[in-house]
Amino acid sequence: MSDRWMSDDQHQQARQRLLERVVTETRETGRSTGLDELSGRVMQAMATVPRHRFVPPEQCEWAYADRPLPIGRGQTISQPFIVALMTELLALGPEDVVLEIGTGSGYQTAVLASLARQVYSLERIPELADAATQRLQELGFANVAVRAGDGCLGWEEQAPFDGIMVTAAAATVPEALVRQLKPGGRLVIPVGPPQWTQDLQVLDKDEQGRVHVRSVLPVVFVPLISNFG
Ligand code: SAM
Repeated sequence: MSDRWMSDDQHQQARQRLLERVVTETRETGRSTGLDELSGRVMQAMATVPRHRFVPPEQCEWAYADRPLPIGRGQTISQPFIVALMTELLALGPEDVVLEIGTGSGYQTAVLASLARQVYSLERIPELADAATQRLQELGFANVAVRAGDGCLGWEEQAPFDGIMVTAAAATVPEALVRQLKPGGRLVIPVGPPQWTQDLQVLDKDEQGRVHVRSVLPVVFVPLISNFG
């Protein structure tokens, strides 16, 4: 069924069914991820953000399927289960300031913005950054700033961050991102070669500034491309 045939109620029901699928998948992967369930806040964000507004018109009929979809320029909007999982792993509080690398469609940005005080998001491809900015504005997300640029360098002027999420596969964790994380903060990032599965990692920076790394799940992401090699 295409978007134009679906009412707001039908979209909401589709989101609810998707959420049930995501909840099941969270439980099924719990042994590996250490998370058996999603928090109420993440469930609420997933139940509210209209994913159909973040996909191209020709993909609308799949907007509430639990899978990634093409968004143009060879990029993808992430699978909803992965969006929920990565968001949960970030464990955001309502006063937190977050940096996201890889805005893409802006869907993950919107989920983060529903949970945190402020989200800064960097996207390498200017056309995607512009489209996401417009979409997020139309949907009323006032606590988001999107900028076109190389996310491997982070966003120095707005650092430090309570949480950083990278939504593209990094060969290694960019040093600038670790530096721009607050003590007590958390970085969620897929690490590994782009042509294979990567390792979804959580890096916790403790109050002394030491970093503790935990592997969570094999994942597949498009590559994080740095202009600086
Ligand atoms: N989270 C997005 C969403 O919900 O639509 C999906 C992100 S997509 C899987 C990865 C994005 O990272 C792409 O849009 C890509 O252009 C972007 N990207 C890749 N390398 C980047 C870099 N160095 N800095 C910023 N963005 C980058």
